[in-house]
Amino acid sequence: MTASEHDFRQPLDRAHAAALDWLRSLESRPVPFSATADDILAELPATVQQEPLDPTAVVDELVRVVEPGLMAIPSGRFFGWVMGGSLPAALASDWLVSAWDQNTGLRFATPAMAAIEEAAGRWLLDLLALPATADVGFTTGATMANFVGIVAGRDRVLQRQGWSVAADGLAGAPRVAVLTGAEVHFSVELALRNAGLGAPMRIAVDAEGRMRPDALAAALAEVEGPAIVCLQAGNIHSGAFDPMTECIAAAREHGAWVHVDGAFGLWAAASPALRDHVAGLELADSWATDAHKTLNVPYDCGIAVVADTAALRAAFGGRTSYLIQLDDAPSDPFERVPELSRRARGVPVFAALRQLGRSGVVALVDRLASTARALAEQIGALPGVEVLNEVVFTQVCLAFGDDDRTQRVTRALIADGAVWMSGSRWQDRDILRISVSNWSTDVDDVATAVAAVRRAMAAADAAPAASVAP
Ligand SMILES: *Cc1c(COP(=O)(O)O)cnc(C)c1O
Repeated sequence: MTASEHDFRQPLDRAHAAALDWLRSLESRPVPFSATADDILAELPATVQQEPLDPTAVVDELVRVVEPGLMAIPSGRFFGWVMGGSLPAALASDWLVSAWDQNTGLRFATPAMAAIEEAAGRWLLDLLALPATADVGFTTGATMANFVGIVAGRDRVLQRQGWSVAADGLAGAPRVAVLTGAEVHFSVELALRNAGLGAPMRIAVDAEGRMRPDALAAALAEVEGPAIVCLQAGNIHSGAFDPMTECIAAAREHGAWVHVDGAFGLWAAASPALRDHVAGLELADSWATDAHKTLNVPYDCGIAVVADTAALRAAFGGRTSYLIQLDDAPSDPFERVPELSRRARGVPVFAALRQLGRSGVVALVDRLASTARALAEQIGALPGVEVLNEVVFTQVCLAFGDDDRTQRVTRALIADGAVWMSGSRWQDRDILRISVSNWSTDVDDVATAVAAVRRAMAAADAAPAASVAP
């Protein structure tokens, strides 16, 4: 017996209604949650109940229990970390991905999903001006996309030394030197750790966190064996971009593999106004970006791009007796990512690109950057506020005098709830960081944010530190 539409109708209708309620609430609800994870856990039975429940009741309970613990991340007033919201076509198509339930590993078995993802991959290469012959894999996020590029690079540079990681592992292999900027994203370090490469050599950066090409060249001159250079397009604090052309030239001189972490910044390549920041980007070997940040598809979706398709396939591909693989076809979806079975993550990317079109992608990226500039100008004009970075992309770092006052303003802002911005530390100072990543953030949200920061400063100055709610 196959389950019938009848089994699904009521739970899906309830989920649909609850989703619309949630989306409607984003307009006015406070951005922060009002219940913690422990509060919500306390509402739940410690062990699963003995008897089955009606599926609709399960959906209703879930909606009720989670409500106070939801952060309004998809709201236009959310400026925390680098998160993004969901474009309507992306969200709707993500629902269908669940309903279709296609295990998107094989071209032969799930041809529709493979085709949609291949089309989306080609469009991405074109929009981001990356080599048209590169392979594209859809991962859970940029952490795994970084892992894909780094593993493909590791295996290739070792293979050039006559060492096969696939056959012999890493023990006894020549040491692969990995060089990153001093402000490398934590996820690159995680990927390196899990790829068996250990901690990177950190190369000096300038005041905006950009790798210094002279320092990279000097460090590479000391390296004897194989090397991987990890560059960054989009520093999470300043938004700045490593100088691609110069750094890649230094890496090439040494024969190093070049990987670019462009989780949100790679999208600058799509904009004629911003493209200069990443000039030379296409000369790298592999790139990682997110679709769940700048492109505004629902969590989760990252994108791994590797120019050396043979290296990618050697790292993640394979042949078995039970998987049906077509000869003479492009590589199978599973050969471009660490997962064998997975959902069709590329479908919401396809839908987002189709909704936006080329002009919509450019307008989205340009609007995120111009909104960040507007926030920096308007908040920076308030008395006692310093903008610490050159606002070249979507990130703004603010300080409100000394660390203590910045912390008090940050706590007051989060307690206020009209907007969310993240506290962080950069250039040896506590800061309040803004990221503009949501397609729906508009001038009203900018005005709301400026007013909220103004209120937070007043609250921080009126109250002694201890009486401001966390
Ligand atoms: C977000 C981010 C990552 C990690 O991406 P996930 O999608 O969280 O896995 C890596 N690098 C940079 C620069 C980022 O902003």
